[in-house]
Amino acid sequence: MSDDLVLYDVADQIATITLNRPEVANAQNPELLHQLDACWTKAGEDPGVKVIILRGAGKHFSAGHDLKGAAPSNNDKWTVQRIYEIEAVQYIGYSLKWRNNPKPSIAAVQGVCIAGGLLLAWPCDLIVAAENAKFSDPVAAMGIGGVEYHGHTWELGPRLAKEILFTGRAITAAEARAVGMVNRVVPLDDLESATRELALEIAKKHPWALRMAKRAVNQTLDVQGFTTAVQAVFDVHQLGHGHAMTECGYPVLVGLDEMKGEIASKS
Ligand code: ZN
Repeated sequence: MSDDLVLYDVADQIATITLNRPEVANAQNPELLHQLDACWTKAGEDPGVKVIILRGAGKHFSAGHDLKGAAPSNNDKWTVQRIYEIEAVQYIGYSLKWRNNPKPSIAAVQGVCIAGGLLLAWPCDLIVAAENAKFSDPVAAMGIGGVEYHGHTWELGPRLAKEILFTGRAITAAEARAVGMVNRVVPLDDLESATRELALEIAKKHPWALRMAKRAVNQTLDVQGFTTAVQAVFDVHQLGHGHAMTECGYPVLVGLDEMKGEIASKS
C-alpha cells in the first residue's frame, strides 16, 4: 500500500491515474486534488501518453469532497471569499482544466460517485461504468443547489437534472447509459479490462487526430455555451454557500454539529 493519495502509471501509451484513498471511498481532500491535477498535467504533457484512464482504488470511485480538509485553522474563519477562492481553484478550476486536457480520457467508475465524485468523472471524455455504479448529487440536503461544476443539465438533460437535484436520489449505471452519460456498462469484474480495451483501441489512432476530434466536440459544446454556463452556475453555487454563511456562519446548512465538532477537535 502506497502513501500516495494518487497513483500514476504508464504502459502501452496509456496513463492510468488511480485515486488511492480506498479506506475513505476516495474522498477528496486538497492534497489528493493537487496530486491528481499534477498527474493530469504530466499525462497531458508526456508525448509517450496517448490516452488517460482515471480510476478509483477499492470498492468506490469517489464519495466526493472531504469537507474536513477545507476547515479553517484555529485563527482563521470561514468567509465567502475563502470558500470562493478555494473552490475556484480546486473544484471548478481543476475540473475545467482536466476537461480541456488535449488527450482523450476515460473514467472507470464503480460503486458510489457522489457529488464531488462527479467533478472527477464528468470532465473525462468517456465513462465506463460497472453495473454497481451509482451517481448522485445530494447537496440540496446541505442547502446548496448542486455541486460546483454544473455538468448536470448537459449530461442528463434538464428534466432528469432537476429530478436528481430536487430529490438527491442516485441514478444507476443503466439509467446513466440510457441518457448518454456513460458510454458502456460492464460487470464489475470486467471494469478494468473493458476500460483498458477501449483505451488501447483509441491509442491506435494518430494523436493529432484524437486531439482534433476532442476539440471538435468540446468546441461545439462551447459554442452552445458549456463553459460559460458552468462558470455562471459556479457563482450560483457560491450564492448557496453565501446564504448558508449568513444563516449560520458555516458554508452548508446541515451537518453543522459534525462540522463544529470537527473544528473544535482541531483547536
Ligand atoms: Zn462548494
